[in-house]
Amino acid sequence: MITTVVGSYPALPKDPSWLIDKIGNFLGIYDKYKPAIALAVNDQIKAGINIISDGQVRGDMIETFAKKIPGMAVENKTPKIIGKINPPPYSLGASDLKYAIKIARKISEDMNRDKKPEISEREFKGVKGIVTGPTTLIYSCRMEGFYNKKEDAILDLAYVLKNEVEYLEDAGAFMIQIDEPFLSTGVVDIDTARKAIKIMTKNLSIPVSLHVCGNIGEVFDELLRFNIDLIDCEFAGIPQNLHVLENSDLKGKKIGFGCIDTKTDEIESLKTVSDLIKEGIKIVGKENMIIDPDCGMRMRSKDAAFSKLKVMVEASECLS
Ligand SMILES: [Zn+2]
Repeated sequence: MITTVVGSYPALPKDPSWLIDKIGNFLGIYDKYKPAIALAVNDQIKAGINIISDGQVRGDMIETFAKKIPGMAVENKTPKIIGKINPPPYSLGASDLKYAIKIARKISEDMNRDKKPEISEREFKGVKGIVTGPTTLIYSCRMEGFYNKKEDAILDLAYVLKNEVEYLEDAGAFMIQIDEPFLSTGVVDIDTARKAIKIMTKNLSIPVSLHVCGNIGEVFDELLRFNIDLIDCEFAGIPQNLHVLENSDLKGKKIGFGCIDTKTDEIESLKTVSDLIKEGIKIVGKENMIIDPDCGMRMRSKDAAFSKLKVMVEASECLS
């Protein structure tokens, strides 16, 4: 089975230590997040993940977007809507994505040189482009200007993020993932959320995954109507989600099967992870599953994140 990650990895930005980097820092061209991307990419490839991320190391999933998109702002750590939402004149994530692809190719080429046949399933396939969804972004912001209704802001933001996912596709993304943790909370307008995703994904030719955190029981049937190829959710931390799958016709969609608890540094045993994946296989079939952790791993220690990914890859291989 194909393995991937949800996105974020422990972020370890690096202050300049070499003279050349110190000079770069003085000139304002040293980027301390690039070593953090390299580290996240390296760990994911070494763990054997097929579709990796750039580690989303630059900040949290709301601020990263809110501070760069015209009409949005972050003041005193509070994300806000302050005017009409318009597209920025550049991509927010394409350059990190390209950097991650470059490093990943180099590391996997080096590994392939002395590759053992038994690890052939750990082949690097590509880097996913990840954006926070418009519904989650707007519901995380304080409304201070221009819009009377959140729904209007969501649709304007959808057009901005449409540009962004197309930039990511052009930059070489293997697939697109839209993170919408708010969709399971019951407080959002699901019709607007669906319209927004449709706007964003209209012109894409690469697969699209929708990541939704939490218990998806109330919302899963609605998610099946979204213009996406894969619904990604948590099954390790929220085993009730398995029952939701039991009673559903997937209508051709695939499941991103979160099988690693990302809320703790404790490393699962191979058996625990394998048993959970087996349950998933029984319900939806392995041909309909992509294996990943429950959620992002930003809050985990680097060692725990790496070990968890390794267990997940091993479990997935045993059952392929
Ligand atoms: Zn999540």
